[in-house]
Amino acid sequence: MTSLSLMPKDVADTAIDRSNAVLTIDLDALADNWRALARLAAPAECSAVVKANAYGLGIAHAAPALWQAGARTFFVALLEEGVRLRAVLPEATIYVLGGLLPGTEAAFEACNLRPVLGSLPEIADWAAHVRTLGAERPAAIHVDTGMNRLGITVDEAVALGVEGAGFRPSLIMSHLACADTPSHPLTARQVERFSRAAAAFPGVPASLANSAGVQSGPEFRFDLVRPGIALYGGAAIAGRAPLKPVVRLEVPIIQVRQGLPGDSVGYGAAQRLARDSRIAVLSLGYADGFHRAFGSADGRPGADAIIAGQRCPLVGRISMDLVTVDVTDLPPQAVQRGQSAVLLGEGIGVDELAAHGGTIGYEVLTGLGARYRRVYVSGAG
Ligand SMILES: *Cc1c(COP(=O)(O)O)cnc(C)c1O
Repeated sequence: MTSLSLMPKDVADTAIDRSNAVLTIDLDALADNWRALARLAAPAECSAVVKANAYGLGIAHAAPALWQAGARTFFVALLEEGVRLRAVLPEATIYVLGGLLPGTEAAFEACNLRPVLGSLPEIADWAAHVRTLGAERPAAIHVDTGMNRLGITVDEAVALGVEGAGFRPSLIMSHLACADTPSHPLTARQVERFSRAAAAFPGVPASLANSAGVQSGPEFRFDLVRPGIALYGGAAIAGRAPLKPVVRLEVPIIQVRQGLPGDSVGYGAAQRLARDSRIAVLSLGYADGFHRAFGSADGRPGADAIIAGQRCPLVGRISMDLVTVDVTDLPPQAVQRGQSAVLLGEGIGVDELAAHGGTIGYEVLTGLGARYRRVYVSGAG
């Protein structure tokens, strides 16, 4: 085996660059999407949800771009994500949606993070922490209005509002279950329940809306909105156009081959060729987040790739590290070994790709693998 460390560095880098799929993340589009949502939400504050490594795009690049665009409040899922975010955004307000696990108060304190407290035991622990410190420490209180996931009940919130939580909450929040389907009756019930809970905390900012909520109307926006998926170019509301696409995925063609009518392609012989065919073989697979469900079989077309500006259908199943594309309809000279195929971008959005796999854009983005060469582009430099 050749050791890369024995190669001159520029040779090694060039070789690696050629063999990898490239994920390009457009930080200007990300910033534009935040600004568009902030304009829509005004006068409510627009935060940014950057959990799960900024929906798979890379928090160390995405969060500073959002900060530059004007975001000041950020939400992560895990304490560990909050610690990483604090390292890149020293001045941001950072909430941890997963709340307070027993014994983690010191870590919240050390990194100036705010837990989103979602149960009475968490609220009691934070009150004790504040008492021990003898100083106020901001935290959010999460109220459950219909998810049955995180949050105290509306009645518990109303009682806390009257009796006091033992500290002054910096935010009262809840989360919509069905905002992606605007006509769902649960949504109106959640707004009513949340309004009742928030009224028990006069002067405390209130927050209900995710991306779909921000885009649904002013009655959802309260004082602060919490978009995630819409920032990253995903469609928040079923059937409605997303904001600007943020990711582009390009993969090298490693060979172009011929197939005969009646031949099958790939594992399980799941797809048979109906004609003399040319097949481009791409270097990516499961570890890249390119799911088996995106593949094609007889009677069940899969995702598309764009080669030389033309849409071409995938043919056969997705292998662990290989994807096969039918390029018969392109002129032979238009498809060359070493050329790129585009799997996200040029009109293929994350939601389109997701639909081929029976999933949603969130899962496509957060599943984007660690093998890509990630390129962050921004006109700001
Ligand atoms: C993930 C999350 C959001 C963002 O949701 P999107 O649908 O991605 O906009 C907002 N609030 C909470 C509590 C969340 O968990």
